[in-house]
Amino acid sequence: MSIAENLNGLKAELPDHVELIAVSKTHPAEKVMEAYDTGHRHFGENKVQEMVAKSETMPSDIRWHLIGHLQRNKVKYIAPFVHLIHGVDSLKLLKEINKRAKQNERVIDCLIQVFIAKEDTKFGMDEKEVRTLIASTELQELEHIRVVGLMGMATNTDNTDQIKSEFKGLKQLFEDIKASDTPKHVEMNHLSMGMSGDYKLAIECGSTMVRVGSAIFGARNYPTNG
Ligand SMILES: *Cc1c(COP(=O)(O)O)cnc(C)c1O
Repeated sequence: MSIAENLNGLKAELPDHVELIAVSKTHPAEKVMEAYDTGHRHFGENKVQEMVAKSETMPSDIRWHLIGHLQRNKVKYIAPFVHLIHGVDSLKLLKEINKRAKQNERVIDCLIQVFIAKEDTKFGMDEKEVRTLIASTELQELEHIRVVGLMGMATNTDNTDQIKSEFKGLKQLFEDIKASDTPKHVEMNHLSMGMSGDYKLAIECGSTMVRVGSAIFGARNYPTNG
């Protein structure tokens, strides 16, 4: 199946309230353009350098999502154009994003990455840290960021009960925060969970945004951790 067929098939299958981020990491611009030419505009990359390089050569109406771990010293490179940063895991990082957004006279949308997996290879904050962050007065002073939801990655396992319980836990936290009296700059609009192997389970558990790479573009031919 072609990239266009994979993408259109996937989109036809997703409920209306679920947004698809086509994860284009490691794939060259020509391949990504096959997806773009179907009308798709939301693309995800996990490396700053690769996202910057693609953004420079590809159409400017692409909405770039940074889905991987973001180092503070690299925020400046993506601040002019990034659409949504999925992997925010500290107040320090939010402060740096705020500073760089201000320099670019814009407001940058962010998701807080929550650690839900039973693995120690995944980044993110635990539930208590997320609640503390959201309640902090320092967050309220950041005029150039908006926290628009949460993101999480389930354990890489065949145990669907475990994956579901991790996704459901994140959904619960999302709903709790949404129902609470959130400070300005915090709106629980997006719950980013689900990848090629588990997006169906994620949607069952309340995901509103799925990040799908290999089910659209095929297998990646070099490792891309982090
Ligand atoms: C690579 C990646 C994805 C997509 O993974 P696939 O299994 O290829 O769909 C989703 N989210 C994050 C954070 C990733 O790094």
